[in-house]
Amino acid sequence: MFKAVKIEKDDAGYRAEYADVTQEQLPEGDVTVRISHSTLNYKDGLAITGKSPVVRHFPMVPGIDFAGEVTESSHPDYQAGDWVVLNGWGVGEKHWGGLAQYARVSGDWLVPLPEAFSSRHAMAIGTAGYTAMLCVMKLASLGVTPEKGEVLVTGAAGGVGSVAIALLAQRGYDVVAVSGRPENTDYLLSLGAKEVVGRELFSEPGKPLGKERWAGAVDVVGGHTLANVCATTKYGGAVAACGLAGGMELPATVAPFILRGVTLAGVDSVMCPKAERLQAWQLLANELDADKLESICEEIGLSEVVPYGEAFLKGEVKGRLVVDVNR
Ligand code: NDP
Repeated sequence: MFKAVKIEKDDAGYRAEYADVTQEQLPEGDVTVRISHSTLNYKDGLAITGKSPVVRHFPMVPGIDFAGEVTESSHPDYQAGDWVVLNGWGVGEKHWGGLAQYARVSGDWLVPLPEAFSSRHAMAIGTAGYTAMLCVMKLASLGVTPEKGEVLVTGAAGGVGSVAIALLAQRGYDVVAVSGRPENTDYLLSLGAKEVVGRELFSEPGKPLGKERWAGAVDVVGGHTLANVCATTKYGGAVAACGLAGGMELPATVAPFILRGVTLAGVDSVMCPKAERLQAWQLLANELDADKLESICEEIGLSEVVPYGEAFLKGEVKGRLVVDVNR
């Protein structure tokens, strides 16, 4: 018997609870992991609250990421005692996830825990931080270098935004943070933003093209914000879009793309190929400042997770939430 967050949907309704689960109930997989830490991501908030159909079947253990120690393996790459990290692959959506003390998964989905990290450290980064690195890698691959000019980060005080700011500032970019919570201004400046601007500058319907300002951008918000970011990106610039915290729609015109050669590049962490994942985790190990990461994260216990689902979707969580699954 072990502890897990369990989501049920039946005649009694949709509900998430802190519950007991048995090893026999774990899904099929060739690697069993004793989890030490997981995290709460925006998608976990959607799963826990049922606000979006993230969970494909029930009962489900949510949690799109975890870090822990292998206890059993018939996969050639892993043996008992190895420390591993998992992000995505539908875990916590279609396959029981990381908000539990144990998980059983396909070894193909795992990456070794980088030597530079403890499992708590890796989960302070979590899927949000790993996605932030994928966005930074995407901008770099599209020629957005620090000397090209300012880079914008939307949803700045959230998980992806906070880590993206720290990473971009570390690489020498001038980062402008967009936030709807002015009380987090000092926090965002401490992560390396050189300026913080209000969310309202981007959230209303705008013109097809605006004054060119950004060499690049990381957008987690979508909707009018993403349209306005594209419309104000400089000639030849690039926008890495990974989120929908403000909406799924994209009410934009093609003007920035066909008149300014702007690239709108999608970033997906869930099905991202293994080689890119390994590269992202290695770059995180090399580049992410440990003190900044500590200032970004807050720790909660597994028993406290459920109420945080709602807070997440209201945009009330700052930075990253690490979950110690043993309390
Ligand atoms: P968080 O909730 O931590 O951060 C989102 C931030 O967006 C908030 O902190 C807030 O920042 C801002 N925000 C919230 N609501 C609104 C709104 N209505 N309008 C404008 N801004 C808003 O989430 P994460 O950082 O974990 O994830 C961000 C997004 O990225 C989510 O949509 C998530 O699903 C997506 N994502 C996608 C991945 C992928 O593989 N493509 C992987 C990981 C995340 P502030 O208070 O500073 O304004």
